Amino acid sequence: MTSSRVYLDWNATAPLRASARCAMVDALDHVGNPSSVHRFGREARRVVDTARESVAALVGAEATWVVFTSGGTEANALAVRGTGRLLFASTIEHASVTAAREDIAPVPVEASGRIDLAALDRVLQQPLRGPALVSVMLANNETGILQPVAEAAAIVHAHGAWLHCDAVQAAGRVDVDMKALGIDLLTLSAHKLGGPQGVGALVCRGDVSLSAVQRGGGQERGLRAGTENVAGIAGFGAACAAAWADLTKADDQARLRNRFESGARTIAPMTRFIGADVPRLPNTSCLSLPGVEASTLVMALDLAGFAVSAGSACSSGKVRPSHVLAAMGLPPAIVQGGVRMSLGWSTTEIEIDRCVEAWGDIANRLADRRAAAA
Ligand code: PLP
Repeated sequence: MTSSRVYLDWNATAPLRASARCAMVDALDHVGNPSSVHRFGREARRVVDTARESVAALVGAEATWVVFTSGGTEANALAVRGTGRLLFASTIEHASVTAAREDIAPVPVEASGRIDLAALDRVLQQPLRGPALVSVMLANNETGILQPVAEAAAIVHAHGAWLHCDAVQAAGRVDVDMKALGIDLLTLSAHKLGGPQGVGALVCRGDVSLSAVQRGGGQERGLRAGTENVAGIAGFGAACAAAWADLTKADDQARLRNRFESGARTIAPMTRFIGADVPRLPNTSCLSLPGVEASTLVMALDLAGFAVSAGSACSSGKVRPSHVLAAMGLPPAIVQGGVRMSLGWSTTEIEIDRCVEAWGDIANRLADRRAAAA
């Protein structure tokens, strides 16, 4: 990243924290396999178990509940397949939940972007063929909107079901206490909070029975076979410890995000913000210029030196209409055009002010062009 380019795509991936890099470099010097009983193996096991403690501490869990995986995608798949229960999922879940099973019963969200708790209660009241699992994410990756997870957990448990919560975007950005929230299974990904890509965890309460999806050597209490990614796990643990310490700075990010939104609203009043009136992550802004495609905005901002993303971009970078904005009942002109701006611990006021200016230039230029064409 050159200094003139501004990275505002932290929900896609955050930069590696210095402490995570150090932990990884140290771990790379360990030769042992954590499953080996000799001294080298025991050293590697110590690295993994130290990280396990830090991951658990970030989300108020027990270390023994942590099952390391190759990332959030695998952890979500393990939760929704490994419990073998009937699956209900909110209509705004990440594709790694919705694509992991074909037999999912949807639970709608309200126009606010928050799960419809009355509808959740209704669907669980029907006679069911067996025990259920409900998947509700803690914070949405496109809008940053926080879900009423404690309330959802109370409903889910009243019906004898379990709650799985994808906390990939929330962990390290807001306080997450798995026990206090009543979450039974929780998904984490290292690279969203300053750890490396390709490592994550499913944190699973001790009384939840789970079967492995990936079988083999019996690692991770038999729940996820494969020699552990020791360096990646070490980086994940260090990133969790740093993210926990940084939670006190969440208000700084909210202040910068709000500064951007009020600046953009003044300079380009046609800007529409999504989720600004409900609880949301402190670092995320989802915005659109009605009628303008998200890809046009992302490219114009990139040319101006700002990296943001279309909320619904897939791995090829192709922008699809957002299933999240559609689920909120927003009109097609917005569903096609949601752009996500996400900040992090190194974002500065100067960068935000430059971004407001760039947004104003782009919005007003596009508006002039549309007026001339009309
Ligand atoms: N869940 C959410 C909400 C996400 O935003 C992402 C990644 O964007 C994932 C799961 C997948 O995580 P990973 O990239 O570690 O597979």
